[in-house]
Amino acid sequence: MKEKGLLIVLSGPSGVGKGTVRKELFSKPDVAFEYSISMTTRAPREGEVDGVDYFFKTREEFEQLIDDGKLLEYAEFVGNYYGTPVDYVRETLDAGKDIFLEIEVQGAKQVREKFPEGLFIFLAPPSLSELYNRIVNRGTESDEVIQGRMEKARKEIEMMSLYDYVVENDEVEKACDRILSIVVAEHCRRERIQHRYQKMLESD
Ligand code: 5GP
Repeated sequence: MKEKGLLIVLSGPSGVGKGTVRKELFSKPDVAFEYSISMTTRAPREGEVDGVDYFFKTREEFEQLIDDGKLLEYAEFVGNYYGTPVDYVRETLDAGKDIFLEIEVQGAKQVREKFPEGLFIFLAPPSLSELYNRIVNRGTESDEVIQGRMEKARKEIEMMSLYDYVVENDEVEKACDRILSIVVAEHCRRERIQHRYQKMLESD
């Protein structure tokens, strides 16, 4: 039986730069994973192509897909639906290829429930570590500003607990390098590999 591919989920707070990091990753010639193109009810932005950036759907079409069980996860974000077509994910994994989802946090939570064995990467804003430095150094910020940031940081840190890895998006290139290293490491995980050797011993 063919070994299954890895389900990789990149998520994180709104505005952290998930889309930028994902585009940079897929512009690299040696990236060996497939991208899961999402469905959305939002209008295409200039330059976006149906079937490349997203599958653009009406609300009626999207709701039909939900009813037909065609989505692995979906969420409403700023008044529009976004969701991951389930068939392509399953086909890709069954073919032994890795698949990469770039989705917001509510969707990532649903995927975690259905695919607990997936690889979940949280993209964190550099402002979290900046905030830490400011607090440690007791810089120029007023208490009120610090309190506001602390509240936002608390929410972002709470979101992290669902994930396996945290990658700080300080620089897009560095974030991409870290993600690629994590994927390589995940493929070397003993739990994923040991059974091959076990089979070898059994066939001896
Ligand atoms: P945008 O409209 O800027 O392309 O995307 C808005 C947000 O939707 C981003 O945070 C993006 O990661 C998220 N998103 C894109 N596709 C999906 C999807 O299939 N499911 C979920 N849950 N979120 C998605």
